[in-house]
Amino acid sequence: MHCPYCRNTDTRVLDSRVTDDGGAIRRRRSCPSCEKRFSTVEQMQLVVVKRSGATEPFARDKAITGVRKACKGRPVSEDDLSRLGQRVEDTLRSEGWAEVPANEVGLAILGPLRELDEVAYLRFASVYKSFESAEAFEEEIAILRAERAAAETPPIEPVETLVPTGSTGRSAPG
Ligand SMILES: [Zn+2]
Repeated sequence: MHCPYCRNTDTRVLDSRVTDDGGAIRRRRSCPSCEKRFSTVEQMQLVVVKRSGATEPFARDKAITGVRKACKGRPVSEDDLSRLGQRVEDTLRSEGWAEVPANEVGLAILGPLRELDEVAYLRFASVYKSFESAEAFEEEIAILRAERAAAETPPIEPVETLVPTGSTGRSAPG
């Protein structure tokens, strides 16, 4: 690894420690030439397995290409998109994927995208889930509406029901 300051090709490791979440190793290094210090982080490489079976390294930018398209004309900023990309990567890493199927990447996008913008979510989901019919699409919208209504409406007090216990003592007229 090159020294980022003087480009010297040799650096010395001073200290290695596992990050708190256990997902990476941080190394403190020093350059024997210019004596500056810097840190490197060693992380498991996340690999995406495409439908064809081909693999490629996970790239946040590439992962959110479809999201960016779905957000066209929506009030979603570049910052929102990069935060979403970060969340997706964090989710996949925390789930312990070494080789993640492409559809799992899409799945990890759905949740945070729905929080971000419902219209973009529906656009993205319509491609990702490839709704087979207008009904399936409407169903998804109905679920969204129901969930939003549930979030906005205070919980309904449980209705007390009277459960008859045993005989009331009344007998049939006759
Ligand atoms: Zn140096």
